[in-house]
Amino acid sequence: MLDVAGNKTHDESRQGEPLAPYAGDPNKYQKRFYIESYGCQMNFSDSEIVASILNAEGFGATRNVEDADLIFVNTCSIREKAEQTVRKRLTEFRKLKEKKPGTLVGVLGCMAERLKSKFLEEEKLVDLVVGPDAYRTLPALVVEAEGGQKAVNVLLSRDETYADISPVRLDSNGISGFVSIMRGCNNMCSFCVVPFTRGRERSRDADSIVKESTDLFNNGYREVTLLGQNVDSYYYSEPTSGKTITFAGLLEMVAEISPRLRIRFSTSHPKDITDDVLFTMARHENICRYIHLPLQSGSTRILQLMNRTYTREWYMGKVNRIREIMPDCGISSDIIAGFCTEEEKDHQDTLDVMEHSLYDMSYMFFYSERPGTLAQRRYKDDIPEDIKKRRLQEIIEVQNRLSLQSNKKDIGKTFSVLIESESKRDADNWKGRNSQNKVIVFPKNNLNHRKGDYVTVKVNDCTQATLLGEIVEM
Ligand code: SAM
Ligand code: SF4
Repeated sequence: MLDVAGNKTHDESRQGEPLAPYAGDPNKYQKRFYIESYGCQMNFSDSEIVASILNAEGFGATRNVEDADLIFVNTCSIREKAEQTVRKRLTEFRKLKEKKPGTLVGVLGCMAERLKSKFLEEEKLVDLVVGPDAYRTLPALVVEAEGGQKAVNVLLSRDETYADISPVRLDSNGISGFVSIMRGCNNMCSFCVVPFTRGRERSRDADSIVKESTDLFNNGYREVTLLGQNVDSYYYSEPTSGKTITFAGLLEMVAEISPRLRIRFSTSHPKDITDDVLFTMARHENICRYIHLPLQSGSTRILQLMNRTYTREWYMGKVNRIREIMPDCGISSDIIAGFCTEEEKDHQDTLDVMEHSLYDMSYMFFYSERPGTLAQRRYKDDIPEDIKKRRLQEIIEVQNRLSLQSNKKDIGKTFSVLIESESKRDADNWKGRNSQNKVIVFPKNNLNHRKGDYVTVKVNDCTQATLLGEIVEM
């Protein structure tokens, strides 16, 4: 598999994961819905909003698709492969529907938005097609579909942020939660379908973000990740006072909820990571020392074609600035191999910027042309697949070496680690993360720690993906 993603915003191991019923839910439901999600964390977070809307209509979640009256797939359009996965999954639902007529199948998210009612022609079994800004209308659409009509709502909104809907945390470890702070994107990177599927950028009311984060903390959560396609362009203007809140201001407000609540954010566009954001991070120990700073390409010529609005020198300067203000900050990236017209020297530029930036990890992809994007309309997808794959493989090799090198540098250091869960491989070990977002596994040692505790861990060893350590003090 050469479309490589790490374990953070686009978690490969979570692709297609169904949401489990909320364990503490006292309600008895007459009807069941099943929802599985693909793509970025935003989609997983949206599925929790959908669950909240459906719960209020008397539908309870099930993890067993065969028990469901309503089956939803929350889809991703970012690369062709993501769409193919969904199409394949739909053929499996067809068989289920044949066995249990009356079951409704709905397509949500970016593919719904991209294909609109065309989806109904192409995939006859689909009953509902609902875009990411239309989830409030789901109850009415379900009624329409139950009456035998095909139901579609793909209207994009300029102001929908679902600010007042408390997402149902269906699949959470109870320690780390995601809080959506904005929707849409105005950036128009030429390769990207997101501005077309998720619409214009809009920021959510800051008070509702602080309230949701405070509620999570009061319910035992110890980490929130502020989510958006481009979080550092967050900008909210309070309608009554006219006061404006930038991303730096919002970070500060959330950081002040409690020093025991860690704050992360995802994802940033390098152009918007200002000194103000960096100094705010540096001032608050509970804002994690970790920035996802997607490079895409290390060639200025390709960056221009991608409409990324920075040069390779500017990007490397930004990496230097981050390290100057927070020398211990972890940095990760997104990289695309084989964009239109990419030559060997452009590819080499990408490898060079990786070496300069010393990324702890990267999400690495080869270019996949998406219908309707600026690149599809303006440029030819002219790099043969074998070259794209070879370049991607070289990028992966550099990243593997950098990840191992970065982990080796941590041997002998101690970190404050938030315990997230038992290690999947060995119940005698805990798994947690340090501020830099690195996974650390360490023995429980019969100490009475629990999920959500902070412990100080000394790193003794590592693999490319994980630090291994031991608790050195309570
Ligand atoms: N808003 C985020 C940003 O600007 O960094 C990224 C959002 S996008 C869901 C995640 C990543 O997918 C991008 O950073 C890019 O590397 C990758 N991506 C987007 N469109 C792509 C395409 N057409 N082919 C390959 N990778 C793509
Ligand atoms: Fe896509 Fe660029 Fe917006 Fe990220 S910033 S979602 S890559 S258009």
